[in-house]
Amino acid sequence: SLRRFTVPLRITVIGTGYLGATHAACMAELGFEVLGVDIDERKIEMLAAGELPFHEPGLPELLKKHTQSGRLRFTTSFEEAGAWGDVHFIGVGTPQKPGGYGADIRYVDAAATSLAENITKDALIVGKSTVPVGTARRLATLVQERHTGPGRISFAWNPEFLREGFAVKDTLTPDRLVIGLAEGDLDAEVILREVYASQLAAETPMIVTDYETAELVKVAANAFLATKISFINAFSEVTESVGGDIRTLADAIGHDARIGRRFLNAGVGFGGGCLPKDIRALQARVSELGLDRTMRFLTEVDEINLRRRDRVVSLAEEVLGRLNGATVGILGVAFKPDSDDVRDSPALDVAARLFNSGADVNVYDPQGNANAAKRFPRLNYVDSYVAAATGAQVVMLLTEWKEFKELHPEDLDGLVQNKVIIDGRNVLNVREWEDAGWTVAALGRKFDPARD
Ligand code: NAD
Repeated sequence: SLRRFTVPLRITVIGTGYLGATHAACMAELGFEVLGVDIDERKIEMLAAGELPFHEPGLPELLKKHTQSGRLRFTTSFEEAGAWGDVHFIGVGTPQKPGGYGADIRYVDAAATSLAENITKDALIVGKSTVPVGTARRLATLVQERHTGPGRISFAWNPEFLREGFAVKDTLTPDRLVIGLAEGDLDAEVILREVYASQLAAETPMIVTDYETAELVKVAANAFLATKISFINAFSEVTESVGGDIRTLADAIGHDARIGRRFLNAGVGFGGGCLPKDIRALQARVSELGLDRTMRFLTEVDEINLRRRDRVVSLAEEVLGRLNGATVGILGVAFKPDSDDVRDSPALDVAARLFNSGADVNVYDPQGNANAAKRFPRLNYVDSYVAAATGAQVVMLLTEWKEFKELHPEDLDGLVQNKVIIDGRNVLNVREWEDAGWTVAALGRKFDPARD
């Protein structure tokens, strides 16, 4: 029995951060009426004024277009959302618990509870946040308990795979859609097929499964990606020790289609608001389930990843002799290019550690300076790579923005004190820089100060 829904569907998105704001604007782009909901009043004010509070390519245009047309609105009121929406997506944060490995799911619980208490018509709640397995089944029950108003509520889980920097594209044309449903909830499936009709028309695979599988698909994907990065970074430790070239190694094994070249880039490692906390939360959850050994390899994945940060710092020390009093120019603090996100950013972590060792640290990131300054205000933030490199005894490329990948030695000549660059992302043409008289120290390459 199909319930009474509005045409076009009215969609709410609870939590308007990187995931939620993107999802909301993209749903409006697909023709739905959309209401974004957050408890952060400042964020909602900005979004309602058509201003994006973070950097994401292509998103400002969509936000502007649809806030102007009125198809996309924002509120802090769950009462409004519950009375209005047909489909409610939950995209609130699930950060690492302070002082533990597990995910802090109190925001998801709060969002689901607020919805349940305010929904007054037939509705579908769809979880999108990345959560520990078992959350969806628990919330499905919680929602029914807390819902006392009119209407019936269905509950589904639809994990999100978007990448920051490609969030709009990934939302409008995802690799796949994963839908976790309560057994036999055909209504929820029909409605989600309506929500994702344009993606389905473009033959996006849709995997319809149970709650647990849907939740696990997300963390499995992230655990695999983290493992792939740490795998190549572990080989970096070997090539650094014996000589050899990690890039060539990655290219060569990447030709095997079973392995694949993507995500095999050796460097300062992964960070951000997802991979690190997701692999930790997975370990914590699986241990809770009594499977203590099962995900133990992820401890190694995490440690290999964190050791890369130590290695870049030690490389800087080898290059400079001593960090105390040295002048360092840092290119990049965002955890990845095309994003202003500095959550658990390896680049910012390294910059902060150099500062704490007594170095003067000049930092330039095309988008990340403001967020970095909030977390670590004592670095010297500058507004161009020229300013960052000026007077530097070593330049360190730590986030692979296009602007940095395309640097040539002559761009920095005459600015730096020493022609030494540390390529923390393995993106520079080493030959070109060495031919121009530079010393290039890269991760995954043996560094011999005598030779270089
Ligand atoms: P974020 O911190 O940018 O945004 C979370 C938002 O939720 C904030 O604006 C916060 O104010 C809001 N919020 C918290 N509690 C709320 C409540 N009770 N009601 C309404 N709003 C509330 O986080 P994000 O990066 O967008 O991540 C959100 C979720 O999506 C996480 O589970 C994350 O793991 C997952 N995810 C993120 C990405 C990504 O690339 N950022 C990709 C896939 C999945």
